[in-house]
Amino acid sequence: MEPDPIRRIAIIGGGLSGLSAAHRLIELSRGDPASTAITLFEASPRLGGIVGTQQVGDYLVDTGADSFLTNKPGAVGLCRRLGLEHRLVATDARYRGAHVLFEGRPVRVPDGFQLISPSAAWPMLTTPLLTPWGKLRMFLEWFVPPGNFADESLADFVRRRFGREALDKLVQPLVGGIYTSDPEKLSVAATMPRFLEMERQFGSLLRASLKQRSVDRQNSAEPSDTTSSGARYGLFAGLAEGMEELLVALRTTVVAGCQIRTSTRIQAVQRASRPIGYKLVLSDGMPEEFDAVIVATTAHQAARLLQDLDSDLATDLAGIEYASSAIVVTGHKLANVRHPLDSFGLVVPHCERRRILATSFSSRKFPVRAPADSVLMRTFVGGAMQPEMFDLDDETLCRVVMQELGEIFGVQGDAEFSLVVRYPRAMPQYHVGHLDRVGRIESRTATHAGLALAGNALRGVGVPDAISSGEAAAAVAMQG
Ligand SMILES: Cc1cc2nc3c(=O)[nH]c(=O)nc-3n(C[C@H](O)[C@H](O)[C@H](O)COP(=O)(O)OP(=O)(O)OC[C@H]3O[C@@H](n4cnc5c(N)ncnc54)[C@H](O)[C@@H]3O)c2cc1C
Repeated sequence: MEPDPIRRIAIIGGGLSGLSAAHRLIELSRGDPASTAITLFEASPRLGGIVGTQQVGDYLVDTGADSFLTNKPGAVGLCRRLGLEHRLVATDARYRGAHVLFEGRPVRVPDGFQLISPSAAWPMLTTPLLTPWGKLRMFLEWFVPPGNFADESLADFVRRRFGREALDKLVQPLVGGIYTSDPEKLSVAATMPRFLEMERQFGSLLRASLKQRSVDRQNSAEPSDTTSSGARYGLFAGLAEGMEELLVALRTTVVAGCQIRTSTRIQAVQRASRPIGYKLVLSDGMPEEFDAVIVATTAHQAARLLQDLDSDLATDLAGIEYASSAIVVTGHKLANVRHPLDSFGLVVPHCERRRILATSFSSRKFPVRAPADSVLMRTFVGGAMQPEMFDLDDETLCRVVMQELGEIFGVQGDAEFSLVVRYPRAMPQYHVGHLDRVGRIESRTATHAGLALAGNALRGVGVPDAISSGEAAAAVAMQG
């Protein structure tokens, strides 16, 4: 029998990673579009997954991600190829930086503090966040011998190098704001390999920072972002009309080059009846066969899908834990807020015993998100550290958040609007040992020709990572 000249490729999941995979497949088959037939299956009626933007009155609300790192190629590269480069907007430099809650009040994160490590002495010496002993202990990092661990928890790493105070007062809330994770479990090798490398190469993170500054000076380059605090906000960009703009551009290209089947849940991926290829079992029970399959879902969904095909692979995927979180979005007249909100947001240390994880001042990052006399706030609750908060109903969540905003920032009166957006089991937790697990998952996946995984469960949780994972999966699916 003649082999079918058309390569049939299925993508399961129409979030950012699935859409990026579809877009890349279309790019790769541009020379000979008739040779490839791409079908994207999405369980819900809408494409985009956990990314989206809503207009609420005069407010523009990114309901999931609102910005992305520009020093990773995924998102910026895709925007460029989609003709969206001119739509990228930088965060507002006037408000760069973050606050951290300290004894019930917002205090600025010391300038130059980058997630784990300070890169400037004076702001650390003058911050009220740490006791004199806490500060001394931080600077003693210079003399702490390098550890010899392939992986350890973020908490162990920071306690070992900088002491407990730095962990509790700064690192836990800043890192928690990104990963919604328990630092006692979070793998430093999987989430912040850069800091392990600094320790390995220079013996100390402080020494590494000093070295970097002197290299910057010699090159007369811009200092490496020592003036913005927290999660290096200066390196983030958004889109003028919100993240939906990226989805619209992706959808437009993808719809033209690929069959999209929304409201279609895949139940299982099985071996095809032919020697090569895969059979997808659809929600209506009908099977369809493909030469290659990209699974672009969460790891727990992928585990269910791949159980029949490879139970070892499924077990490893199912072992990646997830946290659930919700965002309570509120709009306020600035006149009703006592605090100047002069940063991009506030992170809340666990030791402060509050019921919120962080609040992002969205319209300080991107002013057009709210009218000039108002502010758009996005308050994060739940995550791995406060899972019980996710179970509260919407009304109670809004009440709790308004109470917290009132006590912390002096927010008075009713919000102009409030909106609760829930993300059940959406945030993968990269626990200690994650990279070993990822190694096993990748080797097992490679034994199935034409099978590829995409998403944010393996090698990076953010938007650029999800996009890059989709693009890499497309290359695998194309090769067979
Ligand atoms: C609250 C929150 C805030 C975030 N903020 C940021 C941020 O500011 N910056 C940043 O860089 N990153 C952020 N992230 C991370 C970023 O949003 C994600 O990395 C990215 O959107 C993941 O996209 P994805 O396509 O891999 O997954 P998803 O968006 O989860 O898409 C998976 C899709 O697969 C579909 N699906 C699942 N099972 C099946 C099935 N059996 N059959 C068919 N379809 C199926 C689902 O319906 C879904 O549409 C945030 C994440 C969360 C949860």
